[in-house]
Amino acid sequence: MPITAVSGSASGIGAAVCQALRAAGHRVIGIDRADAEVIADLSSATGRQAAISAVLEQSAGVLDGLVCCAGVGSSAVSDTIISVNYFGVTELLDGLADALAKGKQPAATVIGSIAATHTKPDQQAMVEAMLAGNEALALEHANSLGLSHVAYASSKYAVTCNARGKAVAWARQGIRLNVVAPGAVETPLHQASLNDPRFAKAVREFVAPLGRAGHPQEIAQAVAFLQSEQASFVHGSVMFVDGGMDAMVRPTRF
Ligand code: NAD
Repeated sequence: MPITAVSGSASGIGAAVCQALRAAGHRVIGIDRADAEVIADLSSATGRQAAISAVLEQSAGVLDGLVCCAGVGSSAVSDTIISVNYFGVTELLDGLADALAKGKQPAATVIGSIAATHTKPDQQAMVEAMLAGNEALALEHANSLGLSHVAYASSKYAVTCNARGKAVAWARQGIRLNVVAPGAVETPLHQASLNDPRFAKAVREFVAPLGRAGHPQEIAQAVAFLQSEQASFVHGSVMFVDGGMDAMVRPTRF
């Protein structure tokens, strides 16, 4: 039975991913702040190390899959966004890579976002700091800018770059790694943006061509595919699962 660790397993997309993977025959090690096999706070370096140690203990050091779903939205404060959405993903990837390399046809998926394509995040100083692995400097830049939606877009852009940057090295270790970029999906995170007066109007008016937000299960099915043997030649990709939002906004960029 393949063993897959899933962060953010207690809610929304992560919970749906756990359900889909269990249905596909995986043993799932969920990681979250509560209601999970591994209880850990991914916003701090200590919490991330504790998560990695507990996953290694529960998997006996051999993992077949890893799905990084844990994240916070634009209604959180900027430094939590950077710490959870970027370092809470990249440190899990790095800390669990050796265990994945020992797994059977191992694969990992990072949950990015369509937000990564929006606000020219590549021009943000906080992105450079994240990619350099300098959490303190990234937090400093994010806090001094004070725009949580830019921190969110930047965290998702940077985490996508980090994942794609691993494509060559991870292929050598036999591990596939992809990014799923969801559009709007009905989860507590999305609801928090709709409830936030700073973002409610923009979120309500940014509707996908398919005319609705997605359901967590619709993202989970894409993740389950990427984690399966059917996706054996899919590696280093960014898969938009967004009801057509990216095609609507950037028809000539892909
Ligand atoms: P959600 O709030 O339902 O789930 C997020 C999960 O992450 C929760 O279980 C939460 O407890 C966990 N988490 C948050 N901070 C954590 C921490 N410090 N330590 C451990 N766990 C923590 O939200 P969701 O919409 O399912 O989000 C899942 C992922 O999808 C996120 O990375 C999010 O950025 C991304 N995403 C969501 C949407 C959307 O519209 N819902 C769109 C694009 C991308």
